[in-house]
Amino acid sequence: MIYTGGTIGMIESPTTHTLVPFDFNHLIENVPKIGQLGYDIDHVQFDPPIDSSNMNPKCWQEIVKYIADGYDKYDGFVILHGTDTMAYTASALSFMLGNLHKPVVITGSQLPIGETREDGTENLITALEVAAAKDVNGNPMVQEVVISFENYLIRGNRSTKKSSTDFDAFTSYNYPKLGTMDLHIDFNVDALYRPANDGPLDIHDQMDANVGVIYLFPGITEENLRHQLADTTLKGVVLRTFGAGNAPTEPWFTEALTEASQRGLIMVNITQCDNGGVEEKRYQTGDMLAKAGVISGFDMTCEAAITKMMNLFGRGMAKDEVAQYMQQNIAGEVSPS
Ligand code: ASP
Repeated sequence: MIYTGGTIGMIESPTTHTLVPFDFNHLIENVPKIGQLGYDIDHVQFDPPIDSSNMNPKCWQEIVKYIADGYDKYDGFVILHGTDTMAYTASALSFMLGNLHKPVVITGSQLPIGETREDGTENLITALEVAAAKDVNGNPMVQEVVISFENYLIRGNRSTKKSSTDFDAFTSYNYPKLGTMDLHIDFNVDALYRPANDGPLDIHDQMDANVGVIYLFPGITEENLRHQLADTTLKGVVLRTFGAGNAPTEPWFTEALTEASQRGLIMVNITQCDNGGVEEKRYQTGDMLAKAGVISGFDMTCEAAITKMMNLFGRGMAKDEVAQYMQQNIAGEVSPS
């Protein structure tokens, strides 16, 4: 178990009355039921545990290192994580941990373990059970990075935090749930990811954070757009577009994007809609983006697109290669076009 922080292990500060991270022993003391599972569980924790708003590529590398170091020793890994950036971490880890054949199950909670009404205890116990689950041949049932939260098991790089208040806080809009957890834990076996080959864990732990997100809105000015595109530290951007991947067709808009693309900036089209994806050829407005050099991110989440780009650049790929792989499935993050 890798405890990074988040509400699941937080406690109310007596002085400020805000929730602050507490240490792992507090968490375990409050969940004696873990012992009833009969599992052998070791744990490591971030020092200090963090609110997940402070998550970053360095923290992801730390998690990857824990997993790589313990890969042969453990049947599976449970990561306790704040909910706020959990979908980014789940996406990032799916690209960093290539050829994964063991479960990496991320969970957290909306209310801290130890409070009278809380979701943390159940989420933690369920995540451990998911991590320990085997198929009929005795192989790990889950061989990918997943989020286990409330009643659902979700592919990590398809996940999105959908609510800051519901116990049911995560969903996957463009891919079926990998399982449901109610009276029973039922895996959606056909939807589970299986790595392409039997080889060893293939780690790509370098992340290049010189990427950005540009969010379009009606009325966006030329100055605003050009200013964002002019940042020369950026190697790639996710362009959050309207509907099926559409954007204004005004000449200044197309020109600004074409110039950025000719300068070598990788731009990936991701819709602002939760459900569905980019269909560039459907409208003239989307086709125009393709002509300006923007590539389609199809039905990827923004969380997956941005972390995938960090990862591909982190692997040292040339821009053309990044552009090519952004349009290909590498860890179950995108549906074939
Ligand atoms: N701010 C917290 C975090 O993401 C919220 C949570 O854990 O749910 O770390």
